[in-house]
Amino acid sequence: MPLMSDDDFSIHDDDCEKQESGWMPVSDLPDEVTSMDDLDCACWEEYDSIAEI
Ligand SMILES: [Zn+2]
Repeated sequence: MPLMSDDDFSIHDDDCEKQESGWMPVSDLPDEVTSMDDLDCACWEEYDSIAEI
């Protein structure tokens, strides 16, 4: 399940090594996220497309 940072509202995988307490699980990716380019963190590198998330 994706997590949303409460600092900058960025989206991360649930095994992101930068994960901090307070990050909120989100059941769906935000509408703004339409491609892997919208996910900046390295925790998404194992995914080839957002359809796999
Ligand atoms: Zn991350």
